Amino acid sequence: MKNLIKDLVESYGPTGFETEVTNKIRTYIADKVDECYVDALGNLIARKKGSGKKVMFSAHADEIGVIVTYIDDDGFLRFSNVGGLNLLTLLGGRVRFANGVIGVIGKEKGELKDLTLDKLFIDIGAATKDEAQKKVSIGDFAVFHREFADLGQRLVAKSMDDRIGCAVLVEAIRRLDHSDHDLYFVFSAQEEVGLRGARTAAYSIDPDLGIAIDVTRTGDTPEAPRMDVSLGKGAAIKVKDSSVIAHPKVKNLMVRLAEADQIKYQLEVLEAGGTDAGAIHLTKSGVPSGTISIPCRYVHSPSEMVDLDDVENCVKLILAICRDSLDEF
Ligand SMILES: [Zn+2]
Repeated sequence: MKNLIKDLVESYGPTGFETEVTNKIRTYIADKVDECYVDALGNLIARKKGSGKKVMFSAHADEIGVIVTYIDDDGFLRFSNVGGLNLLTLLGGRVRFANGVIGVIGKEKGELKDLTLDKLFIDIGAATKDEAQKKVSIGDFAVFHREFADLGQRLVAKSMDDRIGCAVLVEAIRRLDHSDHDLYFVFSAQEEVGLRGARTAAYSIDPDLGIAIDVTRTGDTPEAPRMDVSLGKGAAIKVKDSSVIAHPKVKNLMVRLAEADQIKYQLEVLEAGGTDAGAIHLTKSGVPSGTISIPCRYVHSPSEMVDLDDVENCVKLILAICRDSLDEF
């Protein structure tokens, strides 16, 4: 499992450029599913056929990043965000472009409290605009450049959001022995800019039940904003975030299964942020939807931290859903 996670988090997959990630995922699951295809927007959709309910699971393959907006005469790049960035976590960090070019993020003079994105730049080691243009172009995308770290029980990497969700789904597919249902596992594109891939995938699948798998924040670090989710306390069953109010049938199903199978879980209310469930539940005439969250510290930073027990409990909860009769849907 750790090797799978390392492989996925170290891949390059900014929003809109998920191919490296989805190609890797395909190699892990192709022989375990009946169909596996990439749709027009870049969602990888794997299907295990069944005659029961149509269930859509979705974990997003993209990660937050930056896009080059301007190159100045001295070869420094200006950039915009792709997905939500915390500016303070960028300082001194490195980014990597698709062609392997590495850049360092620096800032203009000024107080940290006045920091805005337009005071930051990327230094790719070019001395002139010409030299910079030989390495990157306007519109090129880059992601955080940071290696995976194995802390034992806890793991740190860029893009745990949401490669850890992808790893959970991959692991569930590998372990799935039996289900009566028509299962769709979506590795969605473009979540970080507004749940775009999940929207079109849900439209084409038209599921009876939708479950997003994504990370959520925690309240367990020094003087953290109050939130009742902690690393190591189990799969987080979402009740509400700013994109969706989990359908009571879905939330109750997950709680019931977790209790029955002794899967460690916690209830989650996330005050700001959303997941693919936000798009899925508004599809066509509406889809009962919910989210299984992997608790994660330092979300949207280059060092996102998760706990292996939580990951395992999320896999178990997905398997429990696949094996259930799902009569209420
Ligand atoms: Zn996410």
